[in-house]
Order: sequence, then structure tokens, then C-alpha cells
Amino acid sequence: MTGTRPRTRPGTADGVLAVDVGGTKLALRAVAAGAAVYERTVLWPVGGDAGGESELLEASVAEAVGALGGAPVRIGVAAAPNVGADGSVVSWPNRPDWVGRSLSAPFAGSGAEVLFGDDATLAGLAEARSTGSRDLVYLGIGTGVGGGLVSGGRLLTGAWGTAGELGHLVVDPQGPRCRCGTRGCLQAVVSAEALAAHATATRGLPTTTAELVAGVDRAEPWAERTLDHAADSIARALRVLVELVQPAHVRIGGGLGAALAPLPRRVARRLSATARPGRPLPEVGPAVHGAHSSLAGAALLAAHGTSLLGGADLFHEGSPS
Ligand SMILES: [Zn+2]
Repeated sequence: MTGTRPRTRPGTADGVLAVDVGGTKLALRAVAAGAAVYERTVLWPVGGDAGGESELLEASVAEAVGALGGAPVRIGVAAAPNVGADGSVVSWPNRPDWVGRSLSAPFAGSGAEVLFGDDATLAGLAEARSTGSRDLVYLGIGTGVGGGLVSGGRLLTGAWGTAGELGHLVVDPQGPRCRCGTRGCLQAVVSAEALAAHATATRGLPTTTAELVAGVDRAEPWAERTLDHAADSIARALRVLVELVQPAHVRIGGGLGAALAPLPRRVARRLSATARPGRPLPEVGPAVHGAHSSLAGAALLAAHGTSLLGGADLFHEGSPS
């Protein structure tokens, strides 16, 4: 396997397992008696196929279960793909060969109940609990752009349970086409791929997201321009959310979002420039869990079951974690 080396210590048989099935990586955390006993991140192999990735997932789950010392009570899975009630992948724009394939099959050997949730939604839950905020917007920027909305201490789920898809708010009607077919969705403008393309055009050199992050750290003018472009676009989306749901807190995370340290402050500045007189603005900050908010949310799902996803009060199920 590729990725970070596992951290393990002896576990117990009453634990839970959290898994984040993301666009570029797989992250696993085994928790026993409220403490992480195992954590590992595995990058999907470049050029792999769904069959090989399914086997990698199954082997990774088996290793994590082994670290727990017994079958977990429950497994919470934060999923980048849209997963149907039968556990099969309905859509996964970044990995289309998974469509129709079972995402629950690689977990079948664990002997545990397996619960799936949207990765960004779960990240929003975890950020709200850890921030202690009853009104929070989470924005995850990575391979895609995802969102989670918590309003009045409850997850905002909408009529069909999939509210909070902030990546598809249109921020530039003349902008690049999104994978959903619409022009100028936030995802089409500030995903890792989109920001790398913007940096490439601004710099005049092929530029990866890692180079963009390094350029931002060095305050290179071309990187600053791409950062401003991202901040403008995110602030435009937040301007709508401020009017609709009045969040007290905005948390920016995801693999790339967490790596761009100046981004939240830059977004806050842009947002305040468009504030209406007398209207309070949310506090904008980095995700408490950095790039691991979805994994933290999967751990909540594993610990508390689906009630939190069903609109239960986030703060009536034990202390924030
Ligand atoms: Zn879209």
C-alpha cells in the first residue's frame, strides 16, 4: 500500500471504525473507548481501476479491524460518491468506473453494521460539534468542493436529504463548465484542478496544487492572484448563504482548503467588503479538523448512528468531540 505508515496500539473489541472514501485518498481511524487506536491514510494508486481500488479498500478495512482487536460495533463511512440504499455507487464523477459497483462489499468481512454518509455533510457535523456552533457552514475544497450546513443545532438536510451541495452554487455564470453541466459552479472555479489551472494561466507555467500552496506560502504574486480569485469566488457563495441561513461560523477545510493557510482570512475580508449595513457576518476560520473533517464526521456517524444525519440536535448526544 502507499500512503502514511499506520499508527497502532492494542485496541478492544467494543470499538468503532471511521473511513473516509475520498477522491484521491482513503483514510481510516479505529476508535476504542473514545480514543483513536489506529489511523492511516492511503492514496488511491494513479491509473488504478475500481476492481483494484475495491480490493485495496477491503484490505485496508481488514487491517484497521485487526488493530481494534475484534469486529467494530459499527463502521461510519464518509463517502465522496453518491451511494444508494443498497450500498452501490450511484454516481462518482471523479471515478466513473465505480458506478454500479458495491461500496459496501469491501466492508462485508468486518462483521459490523456499515453506515454511509456524504463526506462533506459529515465534515460539517464534525466541525459544528468541535466548534460548539449551532449555526455553521463547512466548505471543503479538494478534488471536489463540498459543503455541510448546520442550522439551529441540526443538520440542514432538505426535502431529499442532500441539501448543502455548496459546490454547485453558481458564482460565475460565464465561468468554466462544471462536471454537472452548468457553467460557473463554485466547484468548477475553486476545486484543486480548477485552481491549478488558474495558477498555470496566471504564472505562465504548468503548476500543480502543491506548487500553488508553496507559492502562497512564499507570497509569490502569481499565487496571490490565484488565492484572491479563490477568495472572491468563495465569498460570492457565502454572501448568498449569509442571507439564507445566517451562519455564525464558516469553517474552510478539505485537502487543499486546509493547506491554503491564508484563505479563510482572505475570504473574510472579501465577505466584509460586501456586507449590508447593520447585518452581522459569520466568523470565517480554518476547519478545526484540518483536512480530516470528513473522517471526524465518519467517527461521529459510527459512534452515534444515523440520528445526527436525520436532523437530531447535534448537542444532545454527549459532549462535543
Ligand atoms: Zn455544478
